[in-house]
Amino acid sequence: MIPYGRQDVTDEDIAAVVAVLRSDWLTQGPAVPRFEEAVAMRCGASRAVAANSATSSLHLACLALGIGPGDLGWTVPNTFVASANCLRHCGAVADFVDIDPSTLNLGVDALEEKLRSARRAGRLPKVLIPVHFAGLSCDMAGIARLADEYGFKVIEDASHAIGGRHRGQPIGCGRYADITVFSFHPVKIITTGEGGMALSNDAVLADAMTRLRSHGIRRDAAAQAVHGPWYYEQTELGFNYRMTDIQAALGLSQLARLDAYVAARLRLADRYDRLLADLPLRTPGRDPDSDSAWHLYVVRLEDAGRRRAVFEHLRAAGIGVNVHYIPVHLQPDYQSQGFAPGDYPVAEDYYARALTLPLYPTLSETEQDRVVIKLHEALA
Ligand SMILES: *Cc1c(COP(=O)(O)O)cnc(C)c1O
Repeated sequence: MIPYGRQDVTDEDIAAVVAVLRSDWLTQGPAVPRFEEAVAMRCGASRAVAANSATSSLHLACLALGIGPGDLGWTVPNTFVASANCLRHCGAVADFVDIDPSTLNLGVDALEEKLRSARRAGRLPKVLIPVHFAGLSCDMAGIARLADEYGFKVIEDASHAIGGRHRGQPIGCGRYADITVFSFHPVKIITTGEGGMALSNDAVLADAMTRLRSHGIRRDAAAQAVHGPWYYEQTELGFNYRMTDIQAALGLSQLARLDAYVAARLRLADRYDRLLADLPLRTPGRDPDSDSAWHLYVVRLEDAGRRRAVFEHLRAAGIGVNVHYIPVHLQPDYQSQGFAPGDYPVAEDYYARALTLPLYPTLSETEQDRVVIKLHEALA
């Protein structure tokens, strides 16, 4: 089976993990801060806070921004459920902005229109969570302009996009957002097994996320001088969302190959573009302002009615195609919150045609050729 995505774990990665296993610290040791500093440095952010998943990082980001009951947060339907669930975990209401049909990212025109009517209704969002779908940055300057005008915070869900660039700067630099979140799940660009990280240039936000990922506990030198060296205080209600040193050692070792991974993905994406040019489908769009990290290579079939048969033909041939994403508002749990089919027509039409082809740095050209041949066969 050729999967749609796959991690690359080298002997150096394994040696780095084994070194932690032989050390004194499996968790809360030196590897996590080392990994955090390396990612912050690589992405041009002043702070980075690791967690046990991007789902946890998104929750921490919402909490740090003060999202709570009665608040409203917006994201896109074309994403993984975690981008919206983080709002609901804070007691806020999640709502959606439809995507742009060319980039498949949050549509800035749709956002502006929804903001205008939300202002009239007195229901403006407190936070917006744009998602860099497939690794391609959203139009962050457009989003930041509206954030200024309408006074909402911005969390970039960059789960697909570490190693990507936008307007000359790395994703995660924080030029246009309060917090940026990366995922290190094995199908993403680099992995820690499970893991996530939230980057920010705001020390208050980074400190809040650091406290909340570890039970809301502080160890304060002044308080320890009074009570004793063992002393700690829980000053707010937090979680155990910590990353282990075992995971951080793997992530740090993987980070050294980030540029090579993104370059390999781009080379394969360009090759798909050429080899699929004559088929009745639309290959991913490019954006002169952005270098995608190429997490996913998604095609859109001209004939949505054939998607299921094409999917099954490829799967039967041992090719692990997938579909990203079922629009979040169509999940039964979201329909029970009041959303319905037809609410976000661009995301729904895109979903009906979407097919994710295998793309990962160690995919060989021979394997890619097999995918291309089977896709031609299925669409013949
Ligand atoms: C993978 C993913 C997440 C969740 O990441 P985990 O690390 O698995 O929790 C969130 N948002 C998007 C867009 C993702 O693709």
